[in-house]
Formats: sequence, C-alpha cells, structure tokens
Amino acid sequence: QDTSSGSNIADALKRRRIAVMTSGGDAPGMNAAVRAVVRAAIYRGCEAYAILEGYEGLLQGGKFIKEMSWDDVRGWLATGGTHIGTARCAGFRERSGRLKAAKNMIINGIDALIVCGGDGSLTGADKFREEWSSLLKELVETGELTAEQVKPHEHLYICGLVGSIDNDMASTDATIGAYSSLERICEAVDYIDATAQSHSRAFVIEVMGRHCGWLALMAGIATGADFIFIPEQPPHDQEWQARMSKIVKRHRANGKRKTIVIVAEGAINSNLDTITPEQVKDVLVDLGLDTRITTLGHVQRGGNAVAVDRLLATLQGVDAVDAVLSATPDTPSPMIGIIENKIVRRNLVEAVAATQEVAKAIKAKDFARAMSLRDTEFAEHFQNFLTINSADRESAKKPAEKQLNIAVINIGAPAGGMNSAIRGLAAYCHSRGHKPYAIHNGWTGLARHESVRELTWLEVEDWMMRGGCEIGTNRNLPDTDIGMVAYYFQKYKFDGLIIIGGFEAFASLHQLEEARASYPAFRIPMVCIPATISNNVPGTEYSLGSDTCMNSLVNYCDVIKLSASASRRRVFVVEVQGGNSGFVAAYAGLATGAHAVYLPEEGISLRQLEADIDNIKEAFEDDQGKNRAGKLILRNEKSSRTLSTEIIVNIIRDEAKGRFDARAAMPGHVQQGGNPSPMDRVRATRFAVQACQFIEQHQMPVEHGAINKLVGSEELRKTAVVLGVRSSKLVYSPIDQLWAYETEHKERRPKKVHWMHLAQVADRLVGRNKLSR
Ligand code: ATP
Repeated sequence: QDTSSGSNIADALKRRRIAVMTSGGDAPGMNAAVRAVVRAAIYRGCEAYAILEGYEGLLQGGKFIKEMSWDDVRGWLATGGTHIGTARCAGFRERSGRLKAAKNMIINGIDALIVCGGDGSLTGADKFREEWSSLLKELVETGELTAEQVKPHEHLYICGLVGSIDNDMASTDATIGAYSSLERICEAVDYIDATAQSHSRAFVIEVMGRHCGWLALMAGIATGADFIFIPEQPPHDQEWQARMSKIVKRHRANGKRKTIVIVAEGAINSNLDTITPEQVKDVLVDLGLDTRITTLGHVQRGGNAVAVDRLLATLQGVDAVDAVLSATPDTPSPMIGIIENKIVRRNLVEAVAATQEVAKAIKAKDFARAMSLRDTEFAEHFQNFLTINSADRESAKKPAEKQLNIAVINIGAPAGGMNSAIRGLAAYCHSRGHKPYAIHNGWTGLARHESVRELTWLEVEDWMMRGGCEIGTNRNLPDTDIGMVAYYFQKYKFDGLIIIGGFEAFASLHQLEEARASYPAFRIPMVCIPATISNNVPGTEYSLGSDTCMNSLVNYCDVIKLSASASRRRVFVVEVQGGNSGFVAAYAGLATGAHAVYLPEEGISLRQLEADIDNIKEAFEDDQGKNRAGKLILRNEKSSRTLSTEIIVNIIRDEAKGRFDARAAMPGHVQQGGNPSPMDRVRATRFAVQACQFIEQHQMPVEHGAINKLVGSEELRKTAVVLGVRSSKLVYSPIDQLWAYETEHKERRPKKVHWMHLAQVADRLVGRNKLSR
C-alpha cells in the first residue's frame, strides 16, 4: 500500500518529528525496523527521534529522547536485540506516567510515535492516543505546559509494528523476530536430533510461547517432531499420556531411532493445569526410553535477524512512516502486518483485541474459539501436523477406490525444501492410504532407467531438515523421450503427479499438459510446486528455497562486510544468482543494505554506475572510518553482458584513486544453502499436503472412456496447475493460462515483476540516486 503520493503526506509534513521506540521483550529485527523508520522519516523530510528504553525513556525524557541521523543507524539491519533499549515500564500503565510521557513528547515537539513491540506495548500506545487530548488539557491546566506549546500538537498519531518472537498477534502472519527465533529453535533441535539418533534417545524440548503455540507448532513441523503441546489445543488430562505413547510406540515400531517432543512454555491440559516437560519425560521413561529435557530459554531471542525478519522490519518500518504521515485525527491507529507475502495495514485496536481474545478463550476453555482466532494458516499447519503423524491409522485412510498412486519428481537445480516437500507428501499419502512414488533423477532417469520407487515411511522420516535433493534432479524436459515417460506413467498407474522445481518444472508441466492430446497417461491431475532460489516461476510470488537462499546469501554478505573491518575501506561487488530474474539480488540488497543493486530487468548504465560510485565515495568520506564494515554492491549474474563483475571492480578501483579498494565476491552455489530454513520446511509441507489434496479432489473418472471425453476441455486443463502464493492468497493457476499470457519464455521469468518495490525501498534507505534510463 503506497500512500506516498497522497496529498495527506504533503499536509502531514508539517508534523516533522517522528519518534520510534522498541518496547516489551526484545526481538531480532527490531534494529532493522528502527533503521527503516529513521531513514524513511528523514527521506520524507522529517526529523527522526528514538525513545531509548521503551516507555521508561518517554517518562524520563531528557537524554532518553534522542534525535537520530542517517548515519546513526548504519549497520543496524543485521543485529539482534535492540540498540535503543527496551524495558517493561509499570509507570506507563498509570495515567500519571502517561502525563509525564505526554509532556516530554510536547517539549520535544513530537506528535507521531511508532512503537515496535508486543500486544502490551501496542495497547499502551493506543491508550496514550485515546487520552492524548485530556492529557494535554491537564498539563495546561496544571501549568506544566502553556496553551501555545500544546497547540501545534493537538493530535497524536501512532502506528504499531509488531516485534515479538512469539508470533502471537492477530491480523498478521508474522511478527518481527518470530522467524529468527524459529531458526534458532530449529538449529538447536537439528543438533539435538543428531545425538538423539545416535543414542536412540528421546528429548523433550521446551520452547517459548506463554499463550501462543506458533513457535512450538512450526518447530514441530520443521523438525519432524513426534508430538507437540500448544496452549491453543490442550489435550485432555486423562488422555494425552496414552495418545503420545501410542504415537511414539508406533514410530519406534516403524524403525525410528529418536523421539522429539516439543512443549510450549504455556502448555496446559484441558483443565488448564500446566503440563511440564518433567511430566512428559515421565511418560516417555515409562515407555523404556532414555529421555532428556532441554530448555532452550533465551537462546531463542538471540542472534542476528534472519533475512525475512530484515525484510519484514524494513518494509513495515517504511510503511509505518507513511502511515503516520497520511493519518488524520479521525483515522484509527494502524498496525502494520503481513498476510502471505503482502504488507498490510490493520486496525491496531481490533488486532490487539483479537489477540487478547485468544488468552480469554483459553481461560474460558473455549479451545475451538482460541484456535479459530489464530490465522487460518495456523489451523491448517496444526491439522497437517496431526495428519502427518497419523500414518498407519486405519481410520484416517480413504476408501479403497479413492486410494491413489501419486508420483513426485524434482526438476531443475536443488532448492531448500525439496526434501521437506517430499517428506510431507509421502507422510500425507501414508496417512490416507495412497502410494507415494518417487521418480528418481528427473525425466531422463525415468525414460532411460525406469527410476520409479515407492517411498517408505522410514526412508523419508528425517528428510524434513535435509538440504540438497535426495531423489536426484536434472534440468531435462520430458520431451526428450515423452513416449517412454507416458509408458511408465501407464505402467505404474499414476493417478496424480507433483513436480517440484523451478522454471524447468514449470516447462515440464506445460509439455505434459500439451501431450495429453496424444497420451492418455497424462490425463491426470498434475501440480507444480515452485522450488527455486531464483523465484522466477510464473504463478507465484514465493518459491521454496528462496528463503533458504536468502539466509545463506545474507550470512555470506555479513561475513564479507566484516572482513573489511581491518582496512575499513573496501567495497565488495557480490555476484548473485537468479538468471534473468533479479529477485535474489533485489531481496538481498534490501536485507543487507547494499549501496547498489544491479538487476537484469534494468541492466547497468554507465551513468548509473558513475552515480553509484559517487555515492560510495561520499559514504566513505561521511563515516570517516567509523563504520568498520565494508560496503556492498550486488550484481545479478545477467544484469549486463558488458559490465561484468570484474570490470565493475576495476572501474571502482580506478575511480577510487587509492581512497578505497574494491573486490569481487562470488558466493556461487553457497546460495543454494545447506539445510532448508524453517520457513521453507513448513511451507514445503503445507504445499505438499495441498498438492495431494488437489489431486484427491480432481481424481479422474474411472469408467472406461469417460476421461477421453474431457480431452481439450477446460475442465481437464484446470487440472494441470501451478500452486502458488499470489496477492496474499494460495492459488492454483492452470498452466496453459500462465504459459500463454504470463510468461517471458526467452527470459524464463514472469511477465509481471512482483518484487520491484523491494529494490525501490532498498535504494531509498541507502540514499541511492536512481537515474531513469
Ligand atoms: P512481549 O510480547 O515481548 O511480552 P509486550 O509489548 O506485550 O511484549 P508487555 O510487558 O505486555 O510486553 O508491555 C510492554 C510495556 O507496554 C509495559 O511495560 C507497559 O509500559 C506498556 N503497557 C502494556 N500494557 C499496557 C496498558 N494496558 N496500558 C498502558 N501501558 C501498557
């Protein structure tokens, strides 16, 4: 939602002082949010202030209210915690405290406040706004301030950014910090997993979340846990021990050597009694398992922000500035959130009320309501977790005539989450009585070596966290030997196909759909799940693997930036992948604070290069070596045929005339990442289950000849689809439509670029002068 051109903003520029604060528990990404607010405010011609130590600083005033310059927030994108401090402030809960706070705001000429914190902090902010007029009135009446002093600030404008690792806020899919915390948890569980596997042990792992089970649920899916306890769905007191034992025993009987149970801090039973990790351990010990408890504690809050938190915090911080500038006295205070992949503004009061309803519903033992108040994705993930763990349960199986043979194939380069998706789909198939078949080594594997194998439960059990591509992949398309491909489809009686991969997966689906006219074996539902770091598949704004890639690339850039700390005078030109799509470069540019990003969609002009070098020269002069880290330029591998990475490095060296140095950096295949990120694992599972359900819903008629009547029909065409995220919705787009109308075939990318705003925001926040071509 870009309101930048609205006349409201021009009017609002009279309100020139915008303050930002962090409040409540710290969360990775808060610094990125502060950086974005400060720079976006300055970009809009305003003065930016930071309130140090949360509401406590607002009460104290004086040195706790600090004007911030552009350079003050340099290097803040990556760091964990919050550099401007946070605190819990009892005083702000009282009117007397808020009176002091209002006075300090007026003395400093501030009437726009952006608060980054949890629901408590945002409730406080809203109360402050509600009382603002009466607070000012009292301050004038008691002679603390004069009428002239308060006159220009009659209205308070606030905006909430949700910074919280719990991800407990309604109206947004993700809070700032939640994915970083999830990353820390999954990293720790992956380590524990290795030792559990070695000793055949059980581990009970306690994670944060007093009222919200998001971390426990996501970690449960992402690490392939056997059982989870979350506050929204408390198990029956007399029942959970038996239920957990049954599942754990079944998994052990199937050959699993480890047991992982994840317990949210706020885990309770249906009588609202706490379920402790010790109680869970006792049950596992009774099963004869050597069981240990690990409490992850504050490790979960720490460390650098992952890429998505940097992105989220930055986009939301920029939008928060626009929101307070375009607000009127009558507009309700907004909270900035994200739904699927889209930044949205929501009514802050309503979002806070809905959030607090969850705790109330739990207290009233209305667990169905507690669940319904979480976002729809939460309930879906929970259902998926249960389904995946219900393998071998006869009651969950489909009737015999609806049990299907579902094939899966990987096409294109490996991408994080490919194995997780296969694990998800195989587990779903086992739970429903379908047979999952893996086609190994792509279309050539199938056509030349009949490389089809049924996936067993145990085989895929620990694929959730594995990087690479277990069933092999290559870039060949089915038309290399489409007749043989069809023959094997027929031989194995595939009822549905899931193709996981990048642009070649997309092209494969197109070929199979076209070949339906000649080959009846392809007249089955077929779903492409986009999985490529380039994120260049038409029909989706998100591909599996892109989050893993981004984390890996952002870590790489953090490291090379730091490597310049000795000389303090180095610029790195990093060559990033992505083919003809600039997504990786644009996203990484935003998440690393690169000084310039070169995209294939725009090319590189000499004038732009010159302007960028001037900008870097100025940056080196301005910070006079204070900022220890090096500076970055990101260049997509195909952004220019002439201006290669090496040539750009040489030009910069010549231009720098010894004042600074330039180096090329090639992350290469590092960008594919190691283990998939938790986001890719969880989304892979969701997409895989959705794809299987699509196949179930579009099962072809079995009566002889019925299917042939559908050839060429729209009904049949609609069963060959790309599963994607578009405009904050999960959608199935028919391949024929995407291929005909939405694809740049030669450039292998969608016609419509959905991410260009990332590049624009990134440029704005590094003060880049973008020249029109
Ligand atoms: P987290 O999710 O990490 O717990 P939070 O923002 O919910 O973060 P709280 O401790 O609930 O954390 O709130 C932070 C601060 O916000 C409080 O210390 C207090 O100063 C202020 N605050 C919270 N609730 C209110 C309220 N109802 N009225 C006024 N101020 C409040």
